[in-house]
Amino acid sequence: MKIINKVEEMYKYTRSCKSEITGFVPTMGYFHEGHLELMQRAKEENDLLITSIFVNPLQFGPNEDFDRYPRNEERDIQLAQENGVDILFIPSMEEMYPNKMTISLSINDRTNVLCGRSRPGHFNGVITVLTKLFHIIQPDKTYFGLKDAQQVAVVDALIEDLNFPLQLVGLPTVREADGLAKSSRNVNLTPKEREEASSIYKALKYGRKLVVDGEKNPATIIKEVKAIILKETSGAIDYVELLSYPSLNSLKAVDEQVVLAAAVQFKEARLIDNLLFDQSGNLVNRL
Ligand code: AMP
Repeated sequence: MKIINKVEEMYKYTRSCKSEITGFVPTMGYFHEGHLELMQRAKEENDLLITSIFVNPLQFGPNEDFDRYPRNEERDIQLAQENGVDILFIPSMEEMYPNKMTISLSINDRTNVLCGRSRPGHFNGVITVLTKLFHIIQPDKTYFGLKDAQQVAVVDALIEDLNFPLQLVGLPTVREADGLAKSSRNVNLTPKEREEASSIYKALKYGRKLVVDGEKNPATIIKEVKAIILKETSGAIDYVELLSYPSLNSLKAVDEQVVLAAAVQFKEARLIDNLLFDQSGNLVNRL
């Protein structure tokens, strides 16, 4: 495995391996099995696997956890090596943003809901860093976790609208044994919160079961999901929403592919989770 820190060096490398099919997994590091699963799949499906680690300040709001975001580069390097990464791109802030940006990208659809509503500017930061990374790395395929379903919907729009010549792959959420979605932020939960947190998944599963049993009304499903989270956790519900996917429009009835998503704010960690399913409640596991 080669570690590259400089954009210029990454360009050189990208140019030298044009004939190979390249899979790219962008991350903010502090790897867990969710990240590793993306790497393993990308490795299987491509000649070359490139992973990046960059905690992107542009996608954090002023009162968010940029400074507290967990980091462990040494461990990440080891895990990347063990999981078949060929190139690990770890640029510094100065490499990625050497000057104040003259251009700003902004997304004006798919973001007035879910995390886009609670985190203004977040997805503008995401599309900005991804545009830079896609240009620097020029992958053939890029792999994202459906745990961040809105992010996948946003990247889908970015690739489509701006004609990035690459394929987006969305892969299923990797979970702890009790169902909690793996997240770098889980380490910021207190032991009590950690126990409670699996109820988010439990509540979403119950919501899906209502659809399997014939419930079509989003309001009813949302109410039931919220009730479970309220009863079983000490966190504050940021949102529970049921929307068309990937267009993220509100619905009168569950009559197409949807995302049922929740965000819960605990003391030091805001957790998100979701389930993607069709109108009959059949899970969708890959985009
Ligand atoms: P992050 O480092 O949080 O930016 O995540 C990097 C990539 O890993 C994103 O595409 C995430 O959606 C994905 N990811 C994070 N957690 C999980 C998980 N539990 N299961 C699957 N993918 C995940």
